[in-house]
Amino acid sequence: MFKTKKINDKTVYYSDLLKTEHFFTSRELIVKDNIELVSKYLKINPDNLIKPSQIHSANIETVVENKKDYPDCDALILDKKDFAIYLNFADCTPIILYDEKNKTGAIAHAGWRGTAQQIAPKTVLKMKEIYKTNPEDIIALIGPCIGFECFETSSEAISKLKNTIKDTKGLFKDNFADLKGINKRQLEDIGVKKFDICPYCTICDNDKFFSYRKENKTKNRHSAVLKLG
Ligand SMILES: [Zn+2]
Repeated sequence: MFKTKKINDKTVYYSDLLKTEHFFTSRELIVKDNIELVSKYLKINPDNLIKPSQIHSANIETVVENKKDYPDCDALILDKKDFAIYLNFADCTPIILYDEKNKTGAIAHAGWRGTAQQIAPKTVLKMKEIYKTNPEDIIALIGPCIGFECFETSSEAISKLKNTIKDTKGLFKDNFADLKGINKRQLEDIGVKKFDICPYCTICDNDKFFSYRKENKTKNRHSAVLKLG
């Protein structure tokens, strides 16, 4: 279940299913403007709070020592305890993945393009390649994003999204698509079983989160943040 906690009086959301440090920020906390505060909260060096440059790709990288820039990257894997990672969102689907057995994690940026390119299951398969992660050991948190009732898109996008899953039942209506549900099913198709799905929609709950669509292409972003341990 998603719950709230405060970082310096600013509301953030977290899942009680995942015991390692993580949260989804709200409008009250823009991470890039609060690097010192967030690093202090996470007890890490601010230089070790890493964000990749997101381009709606399916490119996945792993955090390494002495590297700050991860260009053209939409999912970042973390296996180091003295680092934390964050990615930015405003309608796209944030997905935090955590391997309970190997104690490694990742955040994926799955807007409709990333979802159509199956970035979430590809990230798990990359973890499988590197750490021999068993998808059954993964906890997947699907964060706040544009909801089914609000995400109307092109027929072309709908057909690309439909092609990514075995069973499309309940996830599409006319040109509306359930991005949270599609990501969940993609992950289920490769064996992930443990999920927590955030109930919020960035458009319906625009008082809490940023929406690129509703706020005229806003440059503001909320974030998904993960630190191990
Ligand atoms: Zn909505």
